[in-house]
Amino acid sequence: MNGEISEMKTIIEPAREIKVLREADIVVVGGGPGGHSAAVSAARNGARTVLIERYGHLGGMATGGLVAMIPHLSGGSKEPQLAGLCQEWIERLDAKGAALHPEKEDLGSDDPNVIDYWQNRGIWFVSDEGRVRLTVIMDPEILKCVLNDMVEEAGVKLLLHSWGTRAIVENDQVKGVIFESKSGRQAILAKVVIDATGDGDLLPSAGADFTAKMDVHLRIRNLAVVFKMGNVDLDTFIKFRQTEPEKYAELVRQVFLANGFPVGGFRGLQDGVVWVNNFVPGMGSPRISSLDVEDLTLVERYVRKRMMITLDFYRKRVPGFERSFILTTAPQIGTRGGRRVIGEYTLTEQDMHSGRIFTDTIAMAPHLEHDISPEHPVRCFPYRCLVPIKLEGLLVAGRSFSSEDRVNEMLNLIGHCIALGQAAGTAASLAIKGGVRLRDVNYADLQKTLLRQGVPLPI
Ligand SMILES: Cc1cc2nc3c(=O)[nH]c(=O)nc-3n(C[C@H](O)[C@H](O)[C@H](O)COP(=O)(O)OP(=O)(O)OC[C@H]3O[C@@H](n4cnc5c(N)ncnc54)[C@H](O)[C@@H]3O)c2cc1C
Repeated sequence: MNGEISEMKTIIEPAREIKVLREADIVVVGGGPGGHSAAVSAARNGARTVLIERYGHLGGMATGGLVAMIPHLSGGSKEPQLAGLCQEWIERLDAKGAALHPEKEDLGSDDPNVIDYWQNRGIWFVSDEGRVRLTVIMDPEILKCVLNDMVEEAGVKLLLHSWGTRAIVENDQVKGVIFESKSGRQAILAKVVIDATGDGDLLPSAGADFTAKMDVHLRIRNLAVVFKMGNVDLDTFIKFRQTEPEKYAELVRQVFLANGFPVGGFRGLQDGVVWVNNFVPGMGSPRISSLDVEDLTLVERYVRKRMMITLDFYRKRVPGFERSFILTTAPQIGTRGGRRVIGEYTLTEQDMHSGRIFTDTIAMAPHLEHDISPEHPVRCFPYRCLVPIKLEGLLVAGRSFSSEDRVNEMLNLIGHCIALGQAAGTAASLAIKGGVRLRDVNYADLQKTLLRQGVPLPI
């Protein structure tokens, strides 16, 4: 057989005994912005916590996906709306010279010179309604080290190269997780499991209700393999773009026609390096799924072909790229959306438009540039978006929170996912301390604890 589809539809896997590697209070599966924050907060709040991650580093899309920028942490105000652990990321990166962002005194400024200054340094999301916002460009390699430090200092037991495969469930109560690694198939038992895989990998086996519905015109239903180009003479390129905009626009049109990617000139932190984001299959095209192994394989191969076309085109035709090369491709395929849990509450577009504040608000975020609502400048997340209906012992953290697809589109950026993770880890540890079900956590206690941890809340 050379990969033909098998005629046998299913097989029965024999039952087998599995070693329980550890028993913990909380096991978090997935070490991206959501899962890392959940694990660190759980451990800092006193829970014995295990964090399982399938790759050899933490950070998810923020590191392995080469997503190097966190935009919209403030919405033109003096203070960020997203802080807490996200602020800690920035401070730790700053201490290592591994982040670029506007200074605190510039936040909210409407001085065009200040806005120009930051935009010229490559932070193009620094303003939309004419005021400086907090947007951060990070070095993903240093971020991996920072995230390791945080986990270690908090006392989290970390298992890398470990792929969470199944939730262990008894009578609608999630009791742990089965994972695969080079050591074989093993289990971890815990009072609370937090699914922070981004794609909601544990939801089907847990028996949780979920949806993966996404409109084809949304950003979140596109995949990507981000790559970086090195040895680019950015001054020459930017000068060309500014002085010959029509010629530049024609080249962008032609690179599309040649099936390459347009390269925006996003600077990143290193001289001469640009970051090439991509959207596959493209807005409005038939759907490709981040949950289908054949689609994932196709995207990895397809993007590399288009990357080679891009390199050839830019070297030959675009000033500044004559001696450029492919510096690196993301070790982790870019998945923007996956399964979303059906939670105790599903965040709706109407909630976004009305600026609704919930009794269980656990994080807030500024409006985005395509979502300006001066009347209601913040968007609130209720805790119930993390709590599945019916099932006990499970929370989600990160982009699989309960939300309509258009809401997920706006509110699943790195800063949002850190905030959701911080809330999930804190809530889980409070539930265990108080001996209550996750859905019965006292909202006021949760909010007080988050405020103490530097999380801004609208109360
Ligand atoms: C190409 C691209 C560009 C983007 N641009 C931006 C941007 O500019 N700014 C921004 O803020 N956001 C951006 N985003 C969105 C943002 O990166 C993600 O929404 C965010 O990282 C989600 O965080 P998360 O923790 O929920 O999931 P992820 O970042 O996906 O992390 C999930 C983690 O779980 C691990 N995992 C998955 N399955 C398993 C399993 N079964 N067992 C064990 N571990 C598992 C993964 O390896 C990963 O570490 C972009 C996303 C993509 C793909």
